[in-house]
Amino acid sequence: MKIIAAKWILLMDEAFGIVEDGAICFDERIIAVDGADQLKSRYPQAEFEDFGDAVIMPGLINAHTHLEFSANRSQLRLGSFVGWLESVIEKREGLLAQCEAKQCIDRALDTILESGTTTIGAISSFGLDMESCAKSPINVIYFNEILGSNPAVVDTMYGEFLERYEQSRAFASKSFLPAISVHAPYSTHPILIRKVLETVKAENLVVSTHFMESKDERAWLDRGEGKFAEFFKAFVPDPKPLIKPLEYIGLFKGVSTIYTHCAEANEAEIKAILAQDQAITHCPRSNRYLGSSRLAIEKLPAFHLATDGLSSNDSLSLWDEMRGALMMHSDLDLAELAKRLLLGSTREAGRALGLQKGVIKEGYESDLIVVPIPAETEESMVAISLILHTQKVEGVYVGGERI
Ligand SMILES: [Zn+2]
Repeated sequence: MKIIAAKWILLMDEAFGIVEDGAICFDERIIAVDGADQLKSRYPQAEFEDFGDAVIMPGLINAHTHLEFSANRSQLRLGSFVGWLESVIEKREGLLAQCEAKQCIDRALDTILESGTTTIGAISSFGLDMESCAKSPINVIYFNEILGSNPAVVDTMYGEFLERYEQSRAFASKSFLPAISVHAPYSTHPILIRKVLETVKAENLVVSTHFMESKDERAWLDRGEGKFAEFFKAFVPDPKPLIKPLEYIGLFKGVSTIYTHCAEANEAEIKAILAQDQAITHCPRSNRYLGSSRLAIEKLPAFHLATDGLSSNDSLSLWDEMRGALMMHSDLDLAELAKRLLLGSTREAGRALGLQKGVIKEGYESDLIVVPIPAETEESMVAISLILHTQKVEGVYVGGERI
C-alpha cells in the first residue's frame, strides 16, 4: 500500500474536481483520497512519498493508435485522405519492414509511457505489434482489425483475422486485452462485420471502427462519387458503396462501440451514435493533416481524444494532441476547453473503453501520473499549464506499481 501527496490532485470526476494539498492511498486500486496527515494516520503501514509542487492525476488513455506504422516520418503523403491511403498501400511493406528492423514499436511504447499515457487502444492490422504490446507495462486494448470489401475474398479475410485474434488471445493478461476493430464502412463488407460482431457480443468486447474520417468517404458513401470511386476501380470494375452510413451505425446497435474521427459525420449520424450510447474519438492533428473538417466538439456531450498512428501524426503524445486541439478549436473558451481535453484524455477515454480507469476514485485502478508544476500556479491555471508545458512526466504508476 502506498500514499502519495502533491500540491494538486486532479480527480477527473465529471465536475473536474481539484483537491489542493491532497494525497491518495492506493494499492492495485485506489483506496482513499484525503489530506496526507489523515491518510497516514488511517493507514500507518503505507509507504509515503510527497511530490511537492506537482499534479497527481490519472494516467492518460489514448484509445486509438496504430503502432505498426511507427517508422513513418514523411514517407506518406499528407493533405488529402485518398492520396494518403494510396501512399500507405504503396509504401506499407517498406514501412512495416523498417519498423520491425529498428524495433520502433518498442521505442514508440517507451515514449508513450514517458509522456504519461498508461493505457492505449492499439489498432493492429497485421499483428506485428502483438508481442511488444503484450510485454509492455502499458495497458493495451489490442484491437485486431478486420477489413475486406470484396465478397469473393470475405472467407479468406475472415480466416486470416481469426488466426490473429486467436494468437492475441494467447497473450491475454490483466494489461493486455484482445479486442476487435472493424476498419471502416467503405472497406469492410457487412457480411464480415456481422460475423465478427457475433464474437464481439459473445465475448462482451468493446469494438473500434473508423467512421466518416474524410470528405472522400462522405462523397463515396453518400453518392458513390469522388476519389474513392477512382481508387476502388483499381480493384473492381464497377465499384459501389457497401452500405449507407446510418445502416453502418445500426449494425453496431447493442455493442460498446468507439467511432474514430466522425469529422465528416452529419447531425443524424452523430445523433444515432449517441442514441446507441456509443463513443466518439477525436484525433485533431490527424484530421488536420489529412484535410478533414474540424469536429464540432462543442456540440458533443462527450468525446475522448486520441493520437491515431504516426502514419498520420507527428507524435504519439496526448499532450501534443491537447496542444493541437487548443489551436484547432480556437473559438472555444480556453479554460473550459483545457478541462474538456484533459477529461477527454482520461475519464472519457476510460469510459469509452469500458475500463475502471481515468478517474481518481475509490475502487478505480491505480494508474497515476505525477507532473511537476510551478509553486505559484493558480488553481484556475492548473489545467492550461499542464497542457501547455508537459512533455514527459516525473512519475508513473500502473496498477499501483511505480514504473
Ligand atoms: Zn486510425
